[in-house]
Amino acid sequence: MSASSRPVVVMKFGGTATGAVGRMRTIGAVVRQAQASVRPVLVVSALSGVTRRLDRGLQAVVAAREASGTAADAVIDTLLADLKTRHQTQAREVLSEAAASAYEEDLQEHLEALRLRLHTVVDTGFTPALRDAVLATGEQLSVPMVVATLQDQEVAAQAGDATALLQTDATYGEANVHLEVSKAQVTDWFATLPDEAVPVVAGFVGADANGATTTLGFEGSDYTAALLAAFLHADSLTRFTDVDGIYTADPSTDAAAQRLDR
Ligand code: ASP
Ligand code: MG
Repeated sequence: MSASSRPVVVMKFGGTATGAVGRMRTIGAVVRQAQASVRPVLVVSALSGVTRRLDRGLQAVVAAREASGTAADAVIDTLLADLKTRHQTQAREVLSEAAASAYEEDLQEHLEALRLRLHTVVDTGFTPALRDAVLATGEQLSVPMVVATLQDQEVAAQAGDATALLQTDATYGEANVHLEVSKAQVTDWFATLPDEAVPVVAGFVGADANGATTTLGFEGSDYTAALLAAFLHADSLTRFTDVDGIYTADPSTDAAAQRLDR
């Protein structure tokens, strides 16, 4: 099969797939194997628990702001330290030394941008737009780790910028995707990629018409994956997770959950 005739497949790796060292490495194995016959397009979530940690951290900053500005500083420091440890620890375990130090620079830049945003909340108050910019940080930190993991395994991975692909309205926290514009942006972008490139796109994230970051609602990265699959006429969309099928409820928390065969 010639390279360019390979059908597109969208692979979505959720937080349980990106959030542990062993599973993160498995992404490389899955992609390498798939590449022989299909063109993988990856959609990834934040490492497990990170989006909610960001949300709780932001709420704590807002609460501390009411009490005193210095209390908010301590909350921000704790949040950033948690995020740094989580991502740095995993990057050091999963990546080659050179890739891990490049990732750490990226991590530091994103954490500084997050610090600025949280200080804006302290200085000028909470807005739903700021919350979306804060929540999107989780995917901004996971995408480069997945890209570097793949590159370490000789896959020509490259990050795709979700804010340039999915255009939404300004309903922060639960933004509605403008399908026509987004479809055009996605197909134009995809047409520019070299055939061997494996794009890695943040799920859950978009931008409004003014370029402000928006989010699609919790668990929104499945939706991102479905949109990319539709826009690119993908042969299939596979969700990689820690559950082996579709259940009536979450089997990790509900003992009565039953697996559905069809
Ligand atoms: N990271 C986002 C969340 O935790 C989106 C997703 O994983 O689907 O909801
Ligand atoms: Mg999920």
